[in-house]
Amino acid sequence: MTRETSFPRIPPMNELLDEAVARGIEAGREAQRAAVSAELNQVRADCRAGKARELDDGFWQAVAHRIKVLPTMRLREALNATGVVLHTNLGRAPWAPEAIEAAQAASQAAVLEVSPESGRRGRRERAVSDLLAEVTGAESGLAVNNNAAALTLAVASLARGRGCVLARTEMVEIGGSYRMPEVVRSAGARLIEIGTTNRVHLKDYAEALDDPDVACVLRVHRSNFELHGFVGEPEPDEIAALCRERGVPLVFDLGSGVLQGAGLPGAEEEPSVSAALKAGCDVVTFSGDKLLGGPQAGLIVGPKSLVEKLRSDMLTRSLRLDKTLLAGLEATLSLHALGEEAALRRVPALRQLALRAEDLLPRAEVMAQQLQAAQVDAQVIETAGRVGSGAAPVRDLIGWGVFVKPHAGLDVDALTYALRMGRPGVFGRVQDGGVLLDLRTIEPERDAELQALVIAAANAT
Ligand SMILES: *Cc1c(COP(=O)(O)O)cnc(C)c1O
Repeated sequence: MTRETSFPRIPPMNELLDEAVARGIEAGREAQRAAVSAELNQVRADCRAGKARELDDGFWQAVAHRIKVLPTMRLREALNATGVVLHTNLGRAPWAPEAIEAAQAASQAAVLEVSPESGRRGRRERAVSDLLAEVTGAESGLAVNNNAAALTLAVASLARGRGCVLARTEMVEIGGSYRMPEVVRSAGARLIEIGTTNRVHLKDYAEALDDPDVACVLRVHRSNFELHGFVGEPEPDEIAALCRERGVPLVFDLGSGVLQGAGLPGAEEEPSVSAALKAGCDVVTFSGDKLLGGPQAGLIVGPKSLVEKLRSDMLTRSLRLDKTLLAGLEATLSLHALGEEAALRRVPALRQLALRAEDLLPRAEVMAQQLQAAQVDAQVIETAGRVGSGAAPVRDLIGWGVFVKPHAGLDVDALTYALRMGRPGVFGRVQDGGVLLDLRTIEPERDAELQALVIAAANAT
């Protein structure tokens, strides 16, 4: 049990605010009041915990610190120790250093819609569109806000006011209210459902395409579930050949978007962008922040004529990307352009996916040992990570991590709360009365920081 020390004398708020002004703490009256109140709460908490506090220089430094913007940000950095590489709630793909640097440089004035060679107006996302063509083998590419936007744009631009065919085997809900039938309708197209939940035949497509009002066929990758049992679908190239014969574009929403079919453990079953194009899909859409490992974006590739049709659609302006995201995307795509092997080493999300269990074990052993030395109840544990974001939903990524239990008699909720509230906030997996920290999704140079945050959180509970 700790001993309380007595509270310092606390002057009235008006006097405190005058002193804040006298000390040159720059902020409006309300912001000053909020910072002073928050720090007074901290003073009371410290005194109750037996730590002497005075309203001295240290107090005023803390108030000034609270008024600064960055330390009070609510959208702040986290350490993802969940083992889920593309964790949507933690911001999906971690960016490569090259992407971070590029985005920072572009955050000021940037060569965005001007050609430096001629000094004349240039196209905003030309570099990204050229790189998309280069890394996917498509004729042309376009980048918008996210894959949801890419899909809406594709359906709206190709089939607004007309028919869009979608098989019932692919009526996927991606999450929340994002459901394919609704996407088609909200894009202003008439949904033409074919087949049943478990089976669709080539003749179902052929019959639907007899309707002259059909303006596109949509296919959706079942990225977050699998179909088993009495099931059946035509081969992708059969559907593509039929669409070609009838002169109707085939749009494939790929979701996670592996570029070539790299040797990515856990993602082997994910169809690649190149394979989808080779199978004859006309327009392929995928996310920038899933298996591409870059910023949030929706990427569209296909033949020039169709991509230009999408680019000139009125919606494109509403869905366009910010310059920092375009810069981050250009840098990420440039890493992919170096080849699959280089991308596996230099794109953090891919590197984390490719880690083998034996790469993680020595790190877990060191961390568990040092936590134990700091009186934290910790042990090495085998982990089952995931790709995340719906990709390869049933594949475990076996690795190693550390299992931390709260001090005897204490609640695991208090421990996870303290971890989440740390700076950066630490997010692990709660199980069996403790927190599992999977090292797959922690970059090795941050192990020491994670360890210090765990010690601080364990001792705060
Ligand atoms: C993830 C996903 C989407 C949504 O992509 P966002 O980039 O999150 O908008 C759409 N379709 C499929 C198949 C997906 O996997």
